[in-house]
Amino acid sequence: MYENDMELEDPAITRTLRTGYPEPQKPMPVCPVCGAETDTFVVNRDGQVVGCDECCRDKDAWEVCGI
Ligand SMILES: [Zn+2]
Repeated sequence: MYENDMELEDPAITRTLRTGYPEPQKPMPVCPVCGAETDTFVVNRDGQVVGCDECCRDKDAWEVCGI
């Protein structure tokens, strides 16, 4: 009786051999402002996304206000 070797492997091993990762990969979150794939969103006090770590940055408020 012929058996396919792939059927004997654990699915995680097969996936690792094929993709390099043992777990199925989730798609990366995409920033709604700039479209970059990111791990970090910047949100306002209401929880609305205003950007990400790719398109937002900190700026010195004293400098912006010219004080
Ligand atoms: Zn962004």
